[in-house]
Amino acid sequence: MRTETVHLPYGLVIVLTLDEDTCVGASVSLLSVEQKEPCAYCGEYECEFNCDLSQVAVSNAHEAGDVSLLDSIESDVRSRLRWNAAWDTLERFVVASACAGIDIGSSEFREAITTVADGISNELGED
Ligand SMILES: [Zn+2]
Repeated sequence: MRTETVHLPYGLVIVLTLDEDTCVGASVSLLSVEQKEPCAYCGEYECEFNCDLSQVAVSNAHEAGDVSLLDSIESDVRSRLRWNAAWDTLERFVVASACAGIDIGSSEFREAITTVADGISNELGED
């Protein structure tokens, strides 16, 4: 088992845990969790708006007949899930690259990851 910590742009810190022989069980964590957006109701990053608190919010909006609130909730959830999925994919790519023998700490790899992270921010970021 080998653990590698790589500091990337955007304050991303990748902690990669790899089995020496296989990539089974390889994992990566982007410690800069502020990159991912949590559910506004339960605070979980993985929530697909199925937590009890978010369901109460939807139910309340339904009861109030507040269509614009429902639209806003739906739109926010969709963009949050897209955003988080993009960063999840980046995590998976880093693991796959390390498993393939690529030096994820190299300046070339860091530059490539920076380009992808820029793309995620530009395409999916709110600003
Ligand atoms: Zn939730």
